[in-house]
Amino acid sequence: MSLRVTCANGGWVGGTRFPFPTDPAVHQRTPEGRVVCNQLFCWECSSPVKHLEGVKTKVRAPTDLRRMYDQLDPDGWLDVVELNDEYRLYFCRCSWFSTPSWMPVGHLDTRDIDQWRCAGHPPG
Ligand SMILES: [Zn+2]
Ligand SMILES: [Zn+2]
Repeated sequence: MSLRVTCANGGWVGGTRFPFPTDPAVHQRTPEGRVVCNQLFCWECSSPVKHLEGVKTKVRAPTDLRRMYDQLDPDGWLDVVELNDEYRLYFCRCSWFSTPSWMPVGHLDTRDIDQWRCAGHPPG
């Protein structure tokens, strides 16, 4: 039996001042915590959401995001991102989002990633 627990409010994304938990069991238990979700999943392209530290987007999601996701091809990123210590970049095969602050998915400010949700964490 594999009971999984989901983050409060569907999961949260955040900048680098909110450390990315390495333990898959760590999650946002209450709306008051400040934990970013490490199990975000995109229900649009059926992909786990990946992330990069210290990277900020310069454009809306590029057309070759799928290739960039699958190959992590550094050349693909050159013109579309810039380095910024405060930002964490999240991306799936169909959309991406970078932020220095902390916010839930499914929020007005995160409508570009409305298809992302916490897929659940193993009980700790
Ligand atoms: Zn979560
Ligand atoms: Zn997607």
